[in-house]
Amino acid sequence: MASAQDQIGLIMQLRRRGIRDTKVLRAIERVPRELFVDDAFADHAYQDIALPIECGQTISQPFVVAFMTEKLDLDERHKILEIGTGSGYQAAVLSHLCRRVYTVERWRELQKSAERRFARLNITNVTTIIGDGWLGWPPQAPFDRIIVTAAAHEAPPALLDQLKVGGRMIIPLGESRDAQQLVQIDKTEQGFTEKPLLAVRFVPLVHGRAGVGARQPKAARGARREDA
Ligand code: SAH
Repeated sequence: MASAQDQIGLIMQLRRRGIRDTKVLRAIERVPRELFVDDAFADHAYQDIALPIECGQTISQPFVVAFMTEKLDLDERHKILEIGTGSGYQAAVLSHLCRRVYTVERWRELQKSAERRFARLNITNVTTIIGDGWLGWPPQAPFDRIIVTAAAHEAPPALLDQLKVGGRMIIPLGESRDAQQLVQIDKTEQGFTEKPLLAVRFVPLVHGRAGVGARQPKAARGARREDA
């Protein structure tokens, strides 16, 4: 079981790495990361590292979760779309900072486990769905913010459509796993502006739902980039 000390150590490390938004740090402090990792990795839950989860995926490094959350510049009235539920950790952090989170995952096992964690933590403003994140979630669009936690070669057009004018998307973009940049895309009346933020390493945003003709990506490891 993690101690309050572990959680404080992580928050201090995030501060040292430049996360300043106290609302974001407080939201991270409220989410027990050990509940989002496999029991085998519970001892590492408060280290600032990505860890493997079911289905060959990863729970992002806390620094990357904090960084992306800070860049989203959230408001408690916001409605957010997350693509790539994974463990549900990022969605749980977001749930403390906005009105509602809609999160899409292609693996049923991951979606079910994430839902169990939200229920256990009494998080009631996160709605999950199994689907292809390339398509977004049209019935709930438009969104104030969109966060994509798997890497694509381009911003999915459906997601750009489903973003409100004045809204923002944070997404890792890159042709290969070793050449990804976290990018901030703002939607204005005139169109989109793009700003690169940070070199990262995410699992790929795969086309299609899992188990219906799509291939499972392999998680790889590497150094230097922020492992997400
Ligand atoms: N946000 C997660 C980390 C996600 S890892 C967390 O906090 O734990 C990326 C996730 O994106 C994986 O679970 C993967 O299955 C999912 N994914 C990849 N392609 C997808 C797609 N097209 N639609 C929905 N989910 C996708």
